[in-house]
Amino acid sequence: MSDNYYETLGVASAASQDEIKKAYRSLARKFHPDANPGDEEAERRFKELAQAYEVLSDQDKRSQYDRFGAAGPRGQGSADGFGDIFDAFFGQNNPFGGGAQRQAGPPAGADIEVIVDITFVQAVLGGETEVELKLPIACTACEATGAAPGTHSEACANCQGSGQVQRVRQSILGQMISTSACPACMGFGQVISSPCSTCRGEGRTTADKNFAIEIPPGVDNGARLRLSGRGAAGPRGGGRGDLYVLLRVAGHERFRREGDDLIEELWVPVTQAALGAQIDYLTLDGDEDLVVPAGTVTGTEFRLRGRGVPRLNRRGRGDLVVRVVVDTPTKISDEEADLLRQLAELRGEDVAPADEGWLKRIRSAFC
Ligand code: ZN
Repeated sequence: MSDNYYETLGVASAASQDEIKKAYRSLARKFHPDANPGDEEAERRFKELAQAYEVLSDQDKRSQYDRFGAAGPRGQGSADGFGDIFDAFFGQNNPFGGGAQRQAGPPAGADIEVIVDITFVQAVLGGETEVELKLPIACTACEATGAAPGTHSEACANCQGSGQVQRVRQSILGQMISTSACPACMGFGQVISSPCSTCRGEGRTTADKNFAIEIPPGVDNGARLRLSGRGAAGPRGGGRGDLYVLLRVAGHERFRREGDDLIEELWVPVTQAALGAQIDYLTLDGDEDLVVPAGTVTGTEFRLRGRGVPRLNRRGRGDLVVRVVVDTPTKISDEEADLLRQLAELRGEDVAPADEGWLKRIRSAFC
């Protein structure tokens, strides 16, 4: 990503707060995940915009950024290069306590995954559904600060508000500085003397929330949608994680999917298969006339072009494939049996005589 927040928002470094807000609003609308479902690049841009705006819209953060860049003055712990060197040597196992450094301040909230059941038709044609879930959201009583209304948090005396403590050691390479989260404020940099009674100082509460979920046409079972920034709120104003929606698609009584094609096994009565017929055939898009030519046999396929599943993130749709199974009548009246026997006689085909009771019994055992 561009680590220049001004470039990210497309404004000059001398831009006014109004210009920054305006630029952010129009770009955020353009790259909002709701407007670009499934587009990872847009999602990435959206997050970058949010990050840039979070800093540049806040006068204090902005002037800090102007002076120190994105890492901020708290990045100075490793500015001498030793932290980086030891990370390169030891990776996560840096014995000197450096390791992965977290930015001071409240940590972001967790990502949340939820399974949502949708119908076969919703998956094919798209649509909207709703999901209700319990998740941590910013406390409204204290505006997510965690401090009782009317009070403020104070800079931690142990780390002077930086959220981090540094240890200096001597080593064969010279002086070495390692940084870790301040144990007194747990890395928040701020301590709260009178906690908000609603959230007990956490800055967030658990609540039921409804999410409208836009289902893109053509999704399949197991598809995972990401709703950027809709996950759990972090403590004390920490940003929100993402919400992942795992779609579970129900089966359909008639259709099943093969890639982008819809498949139906259509049982056609033997009379229609032999003599031909025009069938009123219901697709997901409505009624269509399906012509079954005379002499159609089991396994014949009719392909209705463009009546299948819309291709996800591409143009066009798959086909609807109708596979014929000729339906031999299993329960027939005496009169029907007589007619079939006449037909067999005409065609010179041997069939079981009418009085063979054992054959009837076997046949009824299978029905
Ligand atoms: Zn609160």
